[in-house]
Amino acid sequence: MFREILETTQPVVYQTLKNALESEHLSHCYLFVGDKGTHKLETSYLLAQSLVCENKDVFACEKCASCRRMKENNYVDLICIDEEDKNIKVELIENLQQRFDKTALEKAGKKIFIINNCEKLTTKAANSLLKFIEEPSKNTTGIFITTQVDGVLPTIVSRSQTLNFKPLNKEYFFKFALEKNIDSLSAHLISAFVSREIDIVPLSKNKSFTKGIEIFCEFMQKFLIDRKDSYFYLQNSIANNKKNQRDIIKFFLDISLLFIQDYLNDFESEDDTYSNLLKLAKKSNFNHSGIMNAFIDSRTSLNKAANGLLLIDQLIYKLLEV
Ligand SMILES: [Zn+2]
Repeated sequence: MFREILETTQPVVYQTLKNALESEHLSHCYLFVGDKGTHKLETSYLLAQSLVCENKDVFACEKCASCRRMKENNYVDLICIDEEDKNIKVELIENLQQRFDKTALEKAGKKIFIINNCEKLTTKAANSLLKFIEEPSKNTTGIFITTQVDGVLPTIVSRSQTLNFKPLNKEYFFKFALEKNIDSLSAHLISAFVSREIDIVPLSKNKSFTKGIEIFCEFMQKFLIDRKDSYFYLQNSIANNKKNQRDIIKFFLDISLLFIQDYLNDFESEDDTYSNLLKLAKKSNFNHSGIMNAFIDSRTSLNKAANGLLLIDQLIYKLLEV
């Protein structure tokens, strides 16, 4: 159920909407602001469902016919404008208004519109919405969604109740990954690398990512015991992986940097290999700041580096000086 996810990932938004639904003091216009992947659109649907649900308990049940039809965009009195790339043209808004000038068709009697990426409203389109925003009708609720509040027409901002969506946290991504049967080391790394849950499973299956973990574990094991050996290993393993070499290097560097952070934060891993590496680092003479700088330099140079192997050679030179 999305309701539970919202409660965990956006507690402030959850509580605000819960209070409004309980007291039936809903705003006629909402503005949801937050980065991509923070559940703004999903929350819009939950709010819309909660206005019409047949079995609601403060929030919608998410199961009844009305809830399901809304989710499938099959509910006549819900209009969702979701234009990812283009500007939102005035025709779309006029069409919305024509439908909303009439009485609601569904038996709940509520009309709801959702405008995703509302910063993409052309001025003309936004102006034609002003009448609705300034003279709202009782049974109509509007939800505007944006990633950049600065791009939204001031009238929309001032007439709406703004709810800020926070970036999802690592713990949530970690748990989500474990639930998808991803091993605990990959889940830990992935949770640091993604900002949306839909990217978690694809990343766990990404061959460059899994190769990056393999090379990192082997390299770090050697590095903490016999550095010379680790450098030969790193050069060879990168040279032997010509396909997606740059991606593998990127993951190798990112994982190494995360490892140093975990070392500094006394992170306790459930994964045996990673946990042993952290213990080994604690025992060794691990010059974390020098090592970290070498990795950061290489990571910064990666985008402009013409040759991946050369970049690895430069990393090794820097590590030799640490
Ligand atoms: Zn329902």
